[in-house]
This record gives sequence, structure tokens and C-alpha cells, in this order.
Amino acid sequence: MSNADIWEKIIEGYKEVKSDNYLGIFGYPIKHTLSPIIHDMISDEFSLGERYIPFEIDENLGEYVKSAYENGIKGLNITVPFKERVIPYLCEVDDDAKKIGAVNTLVRTDKGYKGYNTDMEGLYRSIKETGTEIKDKEVIMLGAGGAARAVAFMCKKYGAKKIYIINRSIDKAAALSDDMNDKETLKKFIPVSVDEYNTVSNGKYIIIQCTSVGLKSEDGLPLIHDINFYRQAEFAVDLIYNPAKTCFIKCMEELGIPVINGLKMLLYQGIIANELWNNIEVDATLTEKIYSNLIKKLYR
Ligand code: NDP
Repeated sequence: MSNADIWEKIIEGYKEVKSDNYLGIFGYPIKHTLSPIIHDMISDEFSLGERYIPFEIDENLGEYVKSAYENGIKGLNITVPFKERVIPYLCEVDDDAKKIGAVNTLVRTDKGYKGYNTDMEGLYRSIKETGTEIKDKEVIMLGAGGAARAVAFMCKKYGAKKIYIINRSIDKAAALSDDMNDKETLKKFIPVSVDEYNTVSNGKYIIIQCTSVGLKSEDGLPLIHDINFYRQAEFAVDLIYNPAKTCFIKCMEELGIPVINGLKMLLYQGIIANELWNNIEVDATLTEKIYSNLIKKLYR
């Protein structure tokens, strides 16, 4: 397929969207993405004339990235399953994204697209605005998949004291810990198998739920079913935002532990990406307006 054909395919179905200034997201599946709400609202507020379009793409990722660049696309988000695979097609990768090993935002430069990871900063902003600090805290991460890589790096970058990574597949928890542990952090990251969760010493923890357990209505608690384990949380996050309240979130609420879901992370990763594309600053009023629209769309 030529680039022209790929471009035609990309905009197929979106012909009614009139703009000279496209942003977009590449992923599969992508139909239910909420990101157009975030970016179209920012465009309207700043009169940028941009339209953000979800592109459900197949395996020809490199060709799509090339075609998007040739056709003037200013910025792209990249989501599952392409966040790692997109890296070879970029002219440059931001240092943090390199260390995470995943890119979710492409910013147009003279030489090609530069890759960033705004998931990590998005999560950090969502935690920080609750008044919770990461610095010097002990963290328990549940999960060691793609999103967990950004979470682990956030813990490292913002100075968490110790991070236990519990995962169904212990090899993945071990690999992620190895990637994050270096001379500076020594053995801050400790992989723990589900069977050995009792080896996590008693204490007060920030618990970050990064598995996909909770997406389905029939899902119970993720990985550990001992309620006493969760009493050790002083603050908790579930990266899942749909449903709004997973079993994990309900459990935290019942225990009286402050907890947030992943919707603010989604919101902030989008805002940070847009700030990179347009060199703007999205203020608190617009942020709140976008957030209420996301809530309306998702939960009402
Ligand atoms: P991955 O597929 O890369 O990882 C999935 C993780 O969940 C792995 O740790 C996997 O364990 C674990 N897991 C899956 N099924 C089970 C199960 N039945 N029992 C126990 N563990 C299980 O997904 P991502 O890391 O990309 O995403 C994880 C979650 O984070 C998703 O629910 C996604 O919606 C959410 N997310 C939210 C974002 C936001 O902006 N709020 C951004 C990105 C993700 P194992 O390694 O053993 O397979």
C-alpha cells in the first residue's frame, strides 16, 4: 500500500470532519476512546481549529507513522498495543519515555516525530493534586504490564523509598524490578509473587492497582483476596476508570482509605500531550470543564 493509500484509509470514515489541522490516536481497538473530548475541547477553547481523530490501525504501524508525518499531522497519541512498538519509527525519544520503554505521545519536529510518555506525568499529577506525596513513601504495585512500567518509573523519578511489585507472572515483576533498579536506587524495587504477599513487611503504603482485573463486572479483588492486606494502604489508586468503581475501589472505600480511579490520569496525560503539541498551558477552569464532560460521557 502506498502512503497515499494509507492516508486515504486513515481518513476514511472521518470525511465529515473538516480541519486542516489533525491530531489523532493510533491504537487497536480504539472505538471507545474518550481522548477526542479532551483535545477537541482544548482546540475550541484556544480557537486552534484542530480535530482529534481515532485511527484504528493494523500492523503497518511504521507506514502509518510515516504517512501521518508526510500528511502534516501535528501530533499523535499512541495506545495499546503500539506504545513500545512505535519507538523505532521516531526520530528521537524523550529520556523519561526511553527509561519507561513506552511512548504514548508523538510531537512533530523538523526531523520526524519525537516520542514522550505523558501517562507517567498524568498519573503523578492526579496523585499530587490529592495532596499525596510519593517522595519517601513505600509503594505496593499490583501488576507488571505496560501501564505498570510508567507507574514504576514514576515511583523512581519522584523518590519513593521502596516499591514492591506483585504480579500474577512473577517473571514480569522481576524483569520490571531489574529494569528499574540501578546504582542510584539499589534494590528499591522488589518483585513479590502472589503466593508470598505476606513477605511484604507490615507498614503504611500507597497501593497502585495496575492490573486489568476490575474491567469486567464479575471481577473480584486483584491478586490478593485477604482484606487485611489492603488495610495497610494510606492512599490508593486504581488505573482503571471504566467502571468508575472496581471491586478494589469499593474495598478501599469500605476500609475508609482515600482512593482515586484512573480518569484523572487519562485527563492529565491528554492535557500534557496537548500542551506539548500546541505549546499552551491548560488552566484549572478548562481542566475542570473537560473532566465534567468526561464524567458525563462515561458514567451518566
Ligand atoms: P497489560 O495487558 O500490559 O497488563 C495487564 C496486567 O494485568 C498484567 O500485570 C497482568 O498480569 C495482569 N492481569 C491481567 N489479567 C489478570 C488476571 N486475570 N489475574 C491477575 N492478573 C491479571 O495492560 P496495561 O498494563 O496496558 O493496562 C492495565 C490496566 O491499566 C488496564 O485495565 C487499563 O485500562 C489501565 N490503564 C489506565 C490508563 C489511564 O489513563 N487511566 C492508562 C493505561 C492503562 P500478567 O503479567 O501475569 O499477565
